[in-house]
Amino acid sequence: MARFHGILLFSALLCLVRALEASTGDADPVYRACVDQCEKTGCVGEKCFHHCKFSSDGKSIDGPWYLQEPLYLRWKQWDCLSDCRYQCMLSREEEREQLGHKPVKYHGKWPFQRVYGIQEPVAVALSALNLSMQFHGWLSFFILLYYKLPLRPDKKSYYEYTGLWHIYGILSMNCWFWSAVFHSRDVELTEKLYYSSAVTLLGFSLILAILRAFDVRDEAARVMVAAPLIAFMTTHILYLNFYKLDHDLNMKVCAIMGVIHLLVWAIWAGVTRHPSRWKLWLVVVGGGLAMLLETKDFPPYRGFVDAHALWHATTIPLTYLWWSFIRDDAEYGTSSLLKKMK
Ligand SMILES: [Zn+2]
Repeated sequence: MARFHGILLFSALLCLVRALEASTGDADPVYRACVDQCEKTGCVGEKCFHHCKFSSDGKSIDGPWYLQEPLYLRWKQWDCLSDCRYQCMLSREEEREQLGHKPVKYHGKWPFQRVYGIQEPVAVALSALNLSMQFHGWLSFFILLYYKLPLRPDKKSYYEYTGLWHIYGILSMNCWFWSAVFHSRDVELTEKLYYSSAVTLLGFSLILAILRAFDVRDEAARVMVAAPLIAFMTTHILYLNFYKLDHDLNMKVCAIMGVIHLLVWAIWAGVTRHPSRWKLWLVVVGGGLAMLLETKDFPPYRGFVDAHALWHATTIPLTYLWWSFIRDDAEYGTSSLLKKMK
């Protein structure tokens, strides 16, 4: 009997996992029929796709090369199937809307309206804005350190976290670049690149937060803090890329790292006498609220703005404030070091 219960529980769990993989939208028989039909004829209603013609004239897929879809299209997953899925989703959603139904997810994603083939235009534009904000912040930090603040005789800055903030700036810009690419067209490759760069950025931010909050200046101690975190990040990235691209697991890992990162800064902001600690407070509170927004999952407004896009919007002012804190910290660090030397 116990074994029977075990099997029952196992199959129930299996069903749950299956249910999570497939979405309501793509389980809909009307949608499925539409995709099947489209793959055969290359058309959905009036709309037809050129590259579907390669296999639509009755020739099998493994005919001569010139009758097949170009390989690079298939590799990019910009192929007949993905266009058919998109067009069928649009027409199905239109029908559902007329019947007064709410939007549903297709293949795990909400229905988005494409603009010039860009999948989530709002998220792409916001990612680009974030990228330029990061660049602006990093550039102003660079100018402050090397042109405005006094330098050591060997032309290096007095501030002890310069190198770490430079790496942070580069990782942030890299992450926003891949975010823009991923939101233009989400296929496995762009998703992996986006996730990997986001994990790297989050992990590095956590290391940096610990080093700055505990004022770790000694090289060996810094390595001791960084090594286990880098090992964890590497394992997680390898797991995502070469074993399983697990969205839920990645969400959890990122959320935990994000929360610890914010906590480190929050606690430090509470105890430090730093003159710009109020900026830290604002970033921590704003970042926390933004993270709450990210956990909300609602269908995109008019097919354009969803919670994730809003989250990308909130990070723009936070980035400005954040680099402003970093600049203040560089000034503060330099002046307190110079005072000590006198
Ligand atoms: Zn994003």
